[in-house]
Amino acid sequence: MRVVLVGPPGAGKGTQAQFIASHLSIPKISTGDIFRANVSGGTPLGKLAKEYMDRGDLVPDEVTVAMVRDRLSEDDTQGGFLLDGFPRNVPQAEILKKMLADWGLSLDVVLELVVDDEEVVRRLAGRRTCRSCGKVWHIDFDPPSREGVCDACGGELFQRDDDREDTIRHRLEVYQEQTAPLVSFYADEQILIGVDAAGPVEEVTQRAMAALRRFVD
Ligand code: ADP
Ligand code: AMP
Repeated sequence: MRVVLVGPPGAGKGTQAQFIASHLSIPKISTGDIFRANVSGGTPLGKLAKEYMDRGDLVPDEVTVAMVRDRLSEDDTQGGFLLDGFPRNVPQAEILKKMLADWGLSLDVVLELVVDDEEVVRRLAGRRTCRSCGKVWHIDFDPPSREGVCDACGGELFQRDDDREDTIRHRLEVYQEQTAPLVSFYADEQILIGVDAAGPVEEVTQRAMAALRRFVD
């Protein structure tokens, strides 16, 4: 199954992507994670992306699309994939559609995680990410048993540079201006399903999985 997750920063895409990808036995491909790994590794791609990420702006399309093309060309995507954070604007969505069509493929479903701005700010302000395994935690909503330490792997938890209040506000504006139009783009393609992303993580996962099952049956 080929799935895309759309929603504002902090909606819970990364959190849900872990569970959904594991339930469906497909790889989770997060462009934000790939960029962050390149930033940590000090690669030329990371150096270029960092400047945009720190401001809360989108990394230029040609860079992002080339990176996604490479990732989708890997063997583990044969049985499908779950994209988290890509596409992020209509031009990226159009290029993805063309890329898949060239391979004789198309997307099956786009899940939109729907949550209000206040909740998004609460979620982002308390987000902590593991430096070693990338697992996402929240200081109030999903705290690790030892502060600052990942329960999954023992790695160190850190706060993302772009989760500062001013950058969060800018990222929400970028979402409204550039990413939100994807909702009508995919509604027109008749592959969009909205999922209420408020409430506990497990309930959101159940709603998302129920929506996916309805769509494929
Ligand atoms: P996104 O990938 O959409 O930016 P994340 O998955 O990183 O969002 O989630 C943002 C923050 O909100 C994280 O700290 C995560 O632990 C927390 N979170 C995710 N889903 C929920 C939920 N249903 N209820 C409360 N907090 C959540
Ligand atoms: P995320 O982890 O999805 O919140 O993404 C973090 C940052 O990475 C974004 O604010 C952008 O700077 C960059 N990024 C991630 N995905 C994309 C994309 N599809 N297009 C452009 N920039 C992206």
